[in-house]
Amino acid sequence: MALIVQKYGGSSVADTESIKRVARRIIETRKKGNDVAVVVSAMGDTTDELIDQALSIDSNPSAREMDMLMTAGERISMSLLAMAIHAQGEKAHSFTGSQAGFMTDTQYGAAHIRSVKPERVREAISDGEIAIVAGFQGINSLGDATTLGRGGSDTSAVALAVALGADVCEIYTDVDGVFTADPRIVPTAQRIDSITYDAILEMAASGSKVLALRCVEYARRFNMPIHVRSSFSKRKGTIVVGSDINPVLIPNQD
Ligand code: ASP
Ligand code: MG
Repeated sequence: MALIVQKYGGSSVADTESIKRVARRIIETRKKGNDVAVVVSAMGDTTDELIDQALSIDSNPSAREMDMLMTAGERISMSLLAMAIHAQGEKAHSFTGSQAGFMTDTQYGAAHIRSVKPERVREAISDGEIAIVAGFQGINSLGDATTLGRGGSDTSAVALAVALGADVCEIYTDVDGVFTADPRIVPTAQRIDSITYDAILEMAASGSKVLALRCVEYARRFNMPIHVRSSFSKRKGTIVVGSDINPVLIPNQD
């Protein structure tokens, strides 16, 4: 039995049907005998839409209010996903970044994680529940909501996986893993089976957008294996590990 953190991005939870599909997938992982914690992004383009709404009201909104607004996106998806899991007969419990113990500095819009103390997430898991955590957010020393910067849910997922001592952090997206080029643009692009943190950081530096840079740096620092894969297919994706780890040993690849 493994402890698995799964992160679903906005394109995987774009509407309620997608949320139900993701719930099925999470339950499948649980039924294979794993403990599961999930980090979820805001539905589809929600974050962009919230930003547009803010800017249509105030061309120079306060950073604090922007973070209050943007953290709402992930609260919607986390609670709907917990409901979808419940409707399919399993127990789930959602947590905001603050409830999940994500402490950050006070830099609104680009906060850095200072510590993650996911006691309530751990309790939920030991009670047999699936824990759902809002990505991209935390709380600062003033008690205010903060966000980690665009695309920050990947970093939330790795940070949660590290804090829980998970066996793998699975990052679900709309492509089958990391490719030699963007498969949506270059049809001959090849999927990479496994890759080291250093190699993927080089790819990110040269413009590839598969994983947020900060997330890979965090994973490398704590040696947390990442499995980048599609939520739309059952295929194995790309395993990202240090050069000293045999990628075959990472659980839940089928
Ligand atoms: N919803 C946030 C964004 O769109 C965070 C994320 O998706 O990782 O940037
Ligand atoms: Mg998003």
